[in-house]
Amino acid sequence: MACRVCDREHQVMSRFWTKTVSDLTPYVPGEQPSSPTLLKLNTNEHALPPSDAVMAAVHSSQAEQLRRYPDPTAKGLIEAIAETESLATDQVFVGNGSDEVLAHIWLSLLADRPVQTLDTTYGFYPVWAQLYQSTLTEVPVLANFRVDVDALMASPHAVVLANPNAPTGLALSRQEIERLLADNPNRLHVVDEAYYGFGAESVAPLIDRYDNLIVSRSLSKSHALAGLRVGYALAQRELIEGLNRVKDSFNSYPLDAVAQAAAKVAILDAPWQAHSAAVITESRKRMAEGLEALGFEVLPSSANFVFTQHPALSGRMLFDGLRQQDILVRRWDRPRVEQWLRITVGTLAQTASLLAACASLCPSEDD
Ligand SMILES: *Cc1c(COP(=O)(O)O)cnc(C)c1O
Repeated sequence: MACRVCDREHQVMSRFWTKTVSDLTPYVPGEQPSSPTLLKLNTNEHALPPSDAVMAAVHSSQAEQLRRYPDPTAKGLIEAIAETESLATDQVFVGNGSDEVLAHIWLSLLADRPVQTLDTTYGFYPVWAQLYQSTLTEVPVLANFRVDVDALMASPHAVVLANPNAPTGLALSRQEIERLLADNPNRLHVVDEAYYGFGAESVAPLIDRYDNLIVSRSLSKSHALAGLRVGYALAQRELIEGLNRVKDSFNSYPLDAVAQAAAKVAILDAPWQAHSAAVITESRKRMAEGLEALGFEVLPSSANFVFTQHPALSGRMLFDGLRQQDILVRRWDRPRVEQWLRITVGTLAQTASLLAACASLCPSEDD
């Protein structure tokens, strides 16, 4: 049977597979359909195109740049990130998307150890825990999806958190995360800030004071560069050196020359970031208000998506109904979230289309 999402045959097995590979349950990314008519609100790509300056950097790449190996240290990009974050260059690590950065964090700092995360969070964490043989405890979120910081604090085990959380969009304040950091200096905290830039507070300013903190970031969402594959980590230099040891034992050139050049321009393009974040924030507000007017419950989001459910309509029915109208959103067949949809915030026009489609699926007054 072929998998609808990834097109791969699922029944295939080989006696040559290692035990680790046989036992794995790989992460399934959101669908990347080829149909151009589909309104794609399922993988939290940015609604706007990347900045003109980034496109100019992509177009100006030279044959010589491609003939040679890229800079294995990604010096220019790391300097730009360090400058933007007021950190030293040895406090920055870059990788091929933040998924790769997180995988390296896992192998260098979490493998073979007990780790705690939330029962409602990014679906890749249990996969890395399995791949790198960590014992994972999934701490339940509270009834309203709020993170139970006290429950995390009750254990000495390393904590992996997405902030804002996925798929809820709820953010912890810097102060709440600092409470965790200060509570136990021997507990490591990985804070995945993949949705940084849409309103949540970052904990990056705490790095100089806490050596038990590592932050990961992505250019996929905030900078509209999901296709370029660039992510980075920020931490004190000892943790970053651990990541570099893994990287140089895995792939010395994770970022190609074009990605390094374009990502550097993106990081330094503050006016584009301010403008695009304002567009998304406004569209998110309209989406939340529009959904609430139709009777949906919408969690307060600090990301470029909203998490929503309707008291009278099942998650599956809504997902299928939107799909029939050529709108693709994300839904998981998992306890706690099966009634909920995660909808990427599009442009104002796309949000209007989404709201019209939702209205057509809602019970009308006279039914
Ligand atoms: C999208 C996402 C990532 C991965 O981002 P890439 O940089 O595209 O690999 C990591 N963590 C969370 C929570 C995400 O939503």
